[in-house]
Amino acid sequence: MPFYPLPAQEMERLEKLRSYEILDSLPEEAHVRITRLAAKTFNVPIAAISLIEGDKLWFKAHIGNAYNEISRKLTFCAHAICQDEVFVVEDATKDPRFSDNPYVTGAPHLRFYAGAPLRASGGLNLGTVNILDTKPRTITDDERESLADLAAMVIDSFEMRQLLNRANAAERRFIDAMESLPNGFVLYDKDDRLVICNERYREIYAESAKYIVPGASFEEIIRNGVENGQYPDAIGNEEAWIAERLEMHQNPGEPIEQHLPGDTWLRVQERRTSEGGLVGFRFDITELKRQERELIRLAWTDSLTDAMNRHRFMDLAGKEIERTKRRNGELSLLLLDADHFKQINDKYGHAAGDAILKGLVERWTRSLRSHDLIGRIGGEEFSILLPEANAANAICTANRLRKEIAEVPFAFEGQLLRVTVSIGVATLAAGEDLPSLMQRADRALYRAKEAGRDEVIASAA
Ligand code: GH3
Ligand code: MG
Ligand code: MG
Repeated sequence: MPFYPLPAQEMERLEKLRSYEILDSLPEEAHVRITRLAAKTFNVPIAAISLIEGDKLWFKAHIGNAYNEISRKLTFCAHAICQDEVFVVEDATKDPRFSDNPYVTGAPHLRFYAGAPLRASGGLNLGTVNILDTKPRTITDDERESLADLAAMVIDSFEMRQLLNRANAAERRFIDAMESLPNGFVLYDKDDRLVICNERYREIYAESAKYIVPGASFEEIIRNGVENGQYPDAIGNEEAWIAERLEMHQNPGEPIEQHLPGDTWLRVQERRTSEGGLVGFRFDITELKRQERELIRLAWTDSLTDAMNRHRFMDLAGKEIERTKRRNGELSLLLLDADHFKQINDKYGHAAGDAILKGLVERWTRSLRSHDLIGRIGGEEFSILLPEANAANAICTANRLRKEIAEVPFAFEGQLLRVTVSIGVATLAAGEDLPSLMQRADRALYRAKEAGRDEVIASAA
């Protein structure tokens, strides 16, 4: 009978042993217990779980044995491992295979051996569970079966351990991937309790990080976040904000944008998992938001004066007029045009003209209320909307704005530049719309020019 399994099989066997991660590991409690049980059950002085690795046989656990490792050639196990069934030597001194074995002829004077192969799934024998005695003995069929059962228990424990190792490796790999994400990641179970999140997620929600722990419910985390100022948008309407956030969380759809302290902006994306939980991602979009706001500002603003451009002014003025009509309120519109501006350009240069245009808007912005709207609607022509202003208020304001220009010259490169403006005023009449109001202001402006400039003329309704 072959003493060794075939070399190809031997490689496979070693692979299998390695996959169980039992080589070089310390004796495990379960294996010590099984050998103890074997020694007691069979009433023998020596019991062992042995594994064969190359030329060596070593013991995963043993009782009553003086050796940790012995040469494979000298072992009973090297025979047992090649068997399908329990291998028995009732009296070694009478068996020509073992009668001259040094462990038989010398200490510990072995006579009896029974070994059940440790058969792994896939059919490879990795080692044996052995019982040995220094007296010859026989073994019953029941005893053979019990020894084979112990071998099966050892293999079960190896395979359990392998499964556990695989599960641990899968978890480590998942955590590593999750922590490598540049974005926040979170997982909730079907009862909406936090299962896991990465550190980035906790960094993002710094004000509520201490509540973001496994087992905490989404609602608890959100409520604690609101209490700790995590969500500036919730301030003043906490319950409504929480209700809305919970609703979005229950029925996740399109990504939402979330505002955090420090003017940080997140894109929140949530999705249901197949088992009814929820997986969430958080992307930092602060820079994108800033760029978006800047683009909008540029699209709405006149680049020379920083006043609204015509398009934006008309849009907001139209809305303001609608609001005024709904409230039955008052509102006036001024059209302001720099006088003889062509001559200013001709005399002082275009850069001086530009500086004056900027200066006009600066002075008027300082002088007006914050809800008044100022737009540059042509080259040297501006429009100002005065919500809540009746005709008398508007004429008064217009004269103030006119004088603020006429009475104080603009300094430009060491020169004092004098300029005046003419202003047409129109006050909203019942049922009137923006084009009509603009037209009346424009006619009034024309009359102010005709009247000699540096004038305010109001349109009769
Ligand atoms: P009026 O009193 O009748 O309004 O005379 P005006 O010269 O102001 O009127 P006109 O419409 O003939 O000329 C407007 C001038 O405004 C011509 C143009 O060069 C100047 N202007 C328009 N936009 C700008 C600008 O952005 N910068 C400068 N420097 N000048 C501008
Ligand atoms: Mg002009
Ligand atoms: Mg003009």
